[in-house]
Amino acid sequence: MAETIFTKIMAGEIPAEIVYQDEHVAAFRDINPKAPHHLLVVPRKVIPTLNDVTAENSGSVAKIFEALPKIAEQLGFKESGYRAVFNCGPDAHQEVMHIHLHVLGGRDMTWPPG
Ligand code: AMP
Repeated sequence: MAETIFTKIMAGEIPAEIVYQDEHVAAFRDINPKAPHHLLVVPRKVIPTLNDVTAENSGSVAKIFEALPKIAEQLGFKESGYRAVFNCGPDAHQEVMHIHLHVLGGRDMTWPPG
């Protein structure tokens, strides 16, 4: 399987503050946070972008959403609310080619986003 900076974090080869993990996904704090809580929820299976989601791998994507309420509850913003965002491709400034859900919480979010 392809290696990414996120597979290296999940393998313990690069340090990160991991707040949640199970056999399908891990969530860790973004190194450049945009909110008091800024987590990245990442499937262990490498899917480069949202454009690469298929019927064969969409189960890994679903695992992100199964973990999300547990993470929000654990970090204390399940009821106050949060934003969950995928960046895809150049216009969205996707930097890491391993899909990840940005989860931002702990402050009021503006809309529309930049
Ligand atoms: P994106 O632009 O959607 O691909 O987001 C990639 C995110 O990964 C950015 O918000 C980065 O700050 C974050 N990031 C990059 N390297 C690390 C790292 N070593 N640990 C935690 N977050 C990282």
